[in-house]
Amino acid sequence: MSSQDAYAIPFAPDLAWQHSFAELGERFSVPMQATPLPAPYWVGQSLALGRELGLAPGWAESEDWLQALCGNAEMPGSRLLSSVYSGHQFGVWAGQLGDGRAILLGEAHGMEWQLKGAGKTPFSRMGDGRAVLRSSIREFLCSEAMQGLRVPTTRALCVTGSDAPVRRETMETAAVVTRLAPSFVRFGHFEHFCHHGLHDELKALADYVIARHYPECLDSALWGGNPYVAFLAAVTERTAHMVAHWQSVGFCHGVMNTDNMSILGLTIDYGPFQFLDGYDPSHVCNHSDHQGRYAFHKQPNVAYWNLYCLGQALLPLIEEQDQAIAALETFKTQFPQAMAQRFAAKLGLPPGTLPPPSLVEDILKLLAAEAVDFTIFWRRLSHWVRLQDPADASVRDLFLDHTGIDAWLAALGALHQAAGRADAATRMLAANPKYVLRNHLGELAIRAARLKDYSQVAALLEVLQAPFDEHPQYESFAGFAPDWARGIEISCSS
Ligand code: AMP
Ligand code: MG
Repeated sequence: MSSQDAYAIPFAPDLAWQHSFAELGERFSVPMQATPLPAPYWVGQSLALGRELGLAPGWAESEDWLQALCGNAEMPGSRLLSSVYSGHQFGVWAGQLGDGRAILLGEAHGMEWQLKGAGKTPFSRMGDGRAVLRSSIREFLCSEAMQGLRVPTTRALCVTGSDAPVRRETMETAAVVTRLAPSFVRFGHFEHFCHHGLHDELKALADYVIARHYPECLDSALWGGNPYVAFLAAVTERTAHMVAHWQSVGFCHGVMNTDNMSILGLTIDYGPFQFLDGYDPSHVCNHSDHQGRYAFHKQPNVAYWNLYCLGQALLPLIEEQDQAIAALETFKTQFPQAMAQRFAAKLGLPPGTLPPPSLVEDILKLLAAEAVDFTIFWRRLSHWVRLQDPADASVRDLFLDHTGIDAWLAALGALHQAAGRADAATRMLAANPKYVLRNHLGELAIRAARLKDYSQVAALLEVLQAPFDEHPQYESFAGFAPDWARGIEISCSS
């Protein structure tokens, strides 16, 4: 009896799967089966996401769920597939890519469910279809951390692992992430059909995404009644907001290829990402990115470049090039506006008030000049505003340039005075996280997990899901990065 036969019947929960993506047809995806994972075990579980989805309590202890979410058993009613997409990687057309190690189960509880690392697919190219424990823990924790930070993101329900060996630079072990999103469609899906001149399929995909996720684009009053221009403008807006969010929490994605850009403006494909420790705007977190194409400060421009690729792909539907350009140009107002809103929140300004641009530029310059820790600075600043104690030097002490920071703090004080100080600190504490998934925290959890101790993964998850709260028992997660953190090399290898 195969493992699938063994689990097909005992698996009781009926998730009432739906299959709208599969119904787009065979040009979009191929039916799949997962490759069994020997002797799987749980590595991490987001009980919070399970609750949000309304899963029956107990899933996290269930052998049926374990076998289903590592790909050993098919959930009744699921219909496994991998989808085809193409894309630009590091600025160059890369041709066909596709779900090389992700398998879609269908939609349940309003989300698409994917198993990432569940074995080879027709799109695996030279890859083995697997993901390693290290990168799976990072994706799992960061997905839920971003959700905690209120940054638009795909979600992660769990990681399952196995001792099955997987070859990367060294031998590692296999893991599978169950990730969820309202849709996993990427810019690269549209590029694929445009590139091959498959305009009927291109239209079918656009109509599908618009109907399900952007129905407001069907409003005939928008963009001359052209839903495809309205769609491009809407994706532009969501992408601008997502990247502004990234910049405001010091998140560096690391591999912003067009196949890693979600059509819903969600952060997707957590690979060589990093939260900045010291603020270095030109930081490159991906050791495979030799040109620094995806440096932290380049992310907004790269997003804009990627949106142009999407615009190009949608041109056969939009027809009017000027219209497409006009939709894309909205990025130039959307992004600065979104940034101003994010920094208004970080500075504790009342709703509807935006900071003077120079105040934001000045603090970013001061932070960059001394590579001051980005997260610790904003959190200390929030408490400094709360305490209003002239003797409190906690912010000042972060800088050598006391003249510079004193002048800036005075300017902030004057702004708070003018805008109304009430609730400023409360707003700041709700906008400036105490905890982010620093590289070294992930690394320590991974090292423990390799020894089968998953308590660090669970502890980090707990804290990162509520990063604006104080967690006194986890004070060490809020400290400066140790010196050895600089030596952690994160590449595309995953
Ligand atoms: P990424 O850099 O993770 O966005 O992946 C780029 C492309 O390579 C996508 O088509 C992935 O599905 C594919 N890919 C990455 N790693 C593997 C792997 N181990 N096996 C098969 N395909 C992979
Ligand atoms: Mg990818």
